[in-house]
Amino acid sequence: MGSDSAYTAISLEAWTFQLRWPDGIVRDTDLWLDPGESGKPRLRSLRPQAFQIGRMLASMLMLPDPRRNFNGTFSGLPVARHKGYVLTRLGFGPDTEFTGINDVVTIDPVFVDIDNQNEKVTIGIRNRWARIEAVYEHLDALPTNVRSLVVEHRAFMASGDPVDTHLSSIVRKLQGALIGAASGWQPDTDPLLGLEAILGIVPSPGPSLPPPDEIGEDEPTVSARSAHEYRLAKIRGVSGRRFSTDIRAAYGNRCAFCGAVYGGVASVRSGVDAAHILAWSKYDLDVVPNGISLCKLHHWAFDAALLVPVYEGSACTLKFTELAIANFAAATLAKIGQHKFVVPEEWLPEEPALWPSKKYLDVLYADLAIEFAA
Ligand SMILES: [Zn+2]
Repeated sequence: MGSDSAYTAISLEAWTFQLRWPDGIVRDTDLWLDPGESGKPRLRSLRPQAFQIGRMLASMLMLPDPRRNFNGTFSGLPVARHKGYVLTRLGFGPDTEFTGINDVVTIDPVFVDIDNQNEKVTIGIRNRWARIEAVYEHLDALPTNVRSLVVEHRAFMASGDPVDTHLSSIVRKLQGALIGAASGWQPDTDPLLGLEAILGIVPSPGPSLPPPDEIGEDEPTVSARSAHEYRLAKIRGVSGRRFSTDIRAAYGNRCAFCGAVYGGVASVRSGVDAAHILAWSKYDLDVVPNGISLCKLHHWAFDAALLVPVYEGSACTLKFTELAIANFAAATLAKIGQHKFVVPEEWLPEEPALWPSKKYLDVLYADLAIEFAA
C-alpha cells in the first residue's frame, strides 16, 4: 500500500527491505532493521560479507564509493568524490509499500542526500537514472575500455542481482578508465559527468528532484527545494498530484475509521493521512476512490492489514483480520476499533462515487490474501 506519511523506524523493527528501481526491477537488499540495544535502529545486512546500503545505492547510481563514517569526509565541492562523502539519507517515495503480512518494505527511492564536511547535495533518483540510461544508449561513441565497463554496469543492473562489491568495483574501474579520456573531468569524481562530457550530453535543465508531492510531507526541506525547481521549470502540471489535498478535502480532515477530525485548523498541520488503497506505482490510481482519509493509528492498522473496510451491501463496515485476532490482545483491538462497525455515511465523502472503491479493496485483499475474522 502506498503511504503519504513516514513510518517511524521503530515500527519497522526486524522488517526486511527491497528496492524498486526506476527500471522496474525490484531487488532484495538483504537488509533488515535491527532495533539495536541502544534503541537506535540500524539497517543491517543479512549477508556474511555486509554491504552497506550507502555503497549499494552509490554504485547503482554510478556515484563514487562513499565513506562509511562522516569523520574523514572531504570539504568543499564537488561532494561526490571517491571516499570523500557519506550518503546520509534515502528518501522514501509515496509508492513505498509496507506489506505487514510478511514484514517487507518495498522502497520507492526518490532521492539521496550526500554530504561532506560542509556541503550537502540532494540527488533525485529518477533524474539520475534517466541520465545513466542515456549513456547506456550511446555506448558506441565511448572509447573501448570505458565502453566495456559501462556495458558491465548495464548488464549488472539488468540482471536484477542483489548489489554487491562487484558493482562498486565496476564504478571504481570506470573512474580509472575516464582519466585522460574525458577532458575537463576531475579524477575520483562523479564518473557520470565524465561519460556525459565524452558523449557531449548536456543533462536537461529540468528539475533533478522528483515533484514535491512525490517526496512527501515529511521531507519539508527537500519538498521546498523541489517545489522551487518545478516552479522554475513550469512543468508541474501533469506530474503535480493533488491526492493528499483531495482526500483531506473529500473527508473534511476526518478519519474514516474513528470519525475524529484532526485538521482544518489554521496554523496546525492536518493530522490525517491520505492512505492509498492500491499502491499507485503498481496501478497508477491517484484518485479519491483509491484513497481513505485515516488518522495515524488507523493508517497503521490499515496498512498493517489489521483493520480494513469491507462493504456489506452498500454499507462500509470495518473488519478485523485473522492476522489481528491472532496477534493482538482483545483489549488492544478494542482500542483500535470494533469488529463489523458500520462507518456512518457522514464520515465518508458526500459523493458516494468518491467512497473507497469496492473494486480496489477487493484487489488489495486478493493481493494480500487477507482473511477476515469471523
Ligand atoms: Zn482514526
